[in-house]
Amino acid sequence: MTLPQRHADVLIVGAGHGGAQSAMQLRQQKFTGSILLLGDEPHLPYERPPLSKEYLSGEKSFERLLIRPPSFWVDRDIATAPGTRVVAVDPAAHVVRCADGQAISYDRLIWATGGAARRLTCEGHHLQGVHTVRTCADADRLRAELDGTRAVVVVGGGYIGLEAAAVLAKAGKRVTVCEALDRVLARVAGEPLSRFYEAAHRAHGVDVLLGTTVDAIEGADGRVTGVRLADGTQLACQMVIVGIGVIPAVAPLLDAGAMGGNGVAVDAQCRTSLPDVFAIGDCALHANRFADGFAIRIESVQNANDQATVVARAITGGDAIYDAVPWFWSNQYDLKLQTVGLSIGYDDVVVRGDPDARTFSVVYLKQGRVIALDCVNAVRDYVQGRRLVTERWAGDRDALADPAVPLKELTA
Ligand code: FAD
Repeated sequence: MTLPQRHADVLIVGAGHGGAQSAMQLRQQKFTGSILLLGDEPHLPYERPPLSKEYLSGEKSFERLLIRPPSFWVDRDIATAPGTRVVAVDPAAHVVRCADGQAISYDRLIWATGGAARRLTCEGHHLQGVHTVRTCADADRLRAELDGTRAVVVVGGGYIGLEAAAVLAKAGKRVTVCEALDRVLARVAGEPLSRFYEAAHRAHGVDVLLGTTVDAIEGADGRVTGVRLADGTQLACQMVIVGIGVIPAVAPLLDAGAMGGNGVAVDAQCRTSLPDVFAIGDCALHANRFADGFAIRIESVQNANDQATVVARAITGGDAIYDAVPWFWSNQYDLKLQTVGLSIGYDDVVVRGDPDARTFSVVYLKQGRVIALDCVNAVRDYVQGRRLVTERWAGDRDALADPAVPLKELTA
């Protein structure tokens, strides 16, 4: 596509959650310069979380995923260029180059490119019927094959894999989840939550295999026919869904000399080490207070949106820094999980409520202080628990564990 302009006062690369929010916030902060929001997907910005939830199940149409209607961007004089991929950045000249050879100059650049779904590298990984779920196109390809699919193997027991497993089990498919570690959600949650979700999936007929790695994807005539596990087990299936993480899309910035590695390093205002270049969202490696100041990437809508707001304020002369409490959600079956804080490095957990009653919270503590909560069908704990996290509350463990004691009473 021919770019609508050759220069942008603010050029935003990546038209996902962070990119869209940056543009919206710039106008909200009364920024009057030119804004160009470009991205390599052929769409205006849309919500990604439903791709493994209501969009995959067919409950939500693509139109309902759009972050704003098309007229919104026009009305606010935000130029958009879908289907445009940036392949190189010249930080000295303040110019980016696109895959089709077009170049565009900027005063400030906001890099909001998220990441690509990590893929398997084993034999058969390229066969038709092997899917990842990162983009709307991914979800469309997957959905188009569902009619001819009876059995699905999901590789990876993280949130995206489990959400997809829930949708497909509900749709009557025979689903097997293969997780390399000894419990699902092991990288993001404590044992009580992992065991609860494992049991919930089993109760819906999902076979959950733990401590299992995939050796090869088997196929015939270019299409997947099964999965061979490291222990020799063979699982027949017509579809494989791979949910094994994200690789941050930062190569053009790192090639241009930006500091980073697993993401591009940013400071508290989301500035990279390159002049006038900011980075936000899934690709931004930042020191996070809720991770004891360690540099991490957070893959959540909250993080992308809040970092976008910080950058918009920085560009319009403010001095906001990124210090937001992380939060996240996941929907599986009738279970609404809401998390607040980061459980990284916890040394104790308290379970509030009864998992058998399907409403409870897992509270994570470190050295006696609350650092995070995972709340299942427990909105009140989620809302009231936020303060425990921000204050790093320490106190009566019995009261914390008693669901009859509202969490707000603990911080009163
Ligand atoms: P993205 O929204 O991924 O946007 C980046 C955009 O940049 C993409 O369109 C990408 O194609 C484009 N791009 C990449 N490289 C280039 C380039 N070189 N040139 C141009 N464009 C480029 N988070 C939650 O909080 N709750 C959830 O329940 C949840 N569920 C999820 C379910 C799924 C299936 C997925 C995939 C993610 C989910 N997430 C969820 C995570 C959340 O969607 C991400 O954290 C969020 O989208 C990050 O926003 P972002 O702007 O950093 O990146």
